[in-house]
Amino acid sequence: VIGIDLGLKVPAVAVTSEGKTRFFGNGRENKYMKRKFRSERKGLGKKKKLRAIRKLDHKEQRWMKDKDHKVSRQIVNFAIKNQVSIIHLEKLTNIRKTTRTSRKNEKNVHTWSFYRLAQFIEYKAKMAGIKVEYVNPAYTSQKCPSCSTLNKAIDRKYSCPCGFHTHRDKVGAMNIIHAPVIGGHSQSA
Ligand SMILES: [Zn+2]
Repeated sequence: VIGIDLGLKVPAVAVTSEGKTRFFGNGRENKYMKRKFRSERKGLGKKKKLRAIRKLDHKEQRWMKDKDHKVSRQIVNFAIKNQVSIIHLEKLTNIRKTTRTSRKNEKNVHTWSFYRLAQFIEYKAKMAGIKVEYVNPAYTSQKCPSCSTLNKAIDRKYSCPCGFHTHRDKVGAMNIIHAPVIGGHSQSA
């Protein structure tokens, strides 16, 4: 099994049951591009160039979609290489917790982009004969993978009084490996 944690700063983190970790995508570049598109759009808006704005929107959509295709490809290749049979992804309704902004629209945009990336991963995984299961993401970013105590990460570091410590973005994926699977896939029927 591998656990995949999706986020903004690091678009995706994968951790295998054996603890092998890989970071995917470039959150900083995504943020830069988003800002660049936004400022171009603003300039066009001032000149009332509506057709050009629509064209720019499509360009941005294509750019983001292309990134999601690349990241999902890399994740599934990583899964194949490590001979995993199941990929665990967070159930997406709660994923907005990873976004800091409180603006409703922004939240929706992020949820949508996570959703699409998850869909791409699921599709490519299926093609490779790998099963995708969605897990309950409750506390996955806070729980200590070693002793289950809840802690909050400070800056980029996660550390627990029990002595466990790691990169904060790794904790989510580690917990997602063992988090309860949602809907129909449970073995405990
Ligand atoms: Zn601990």
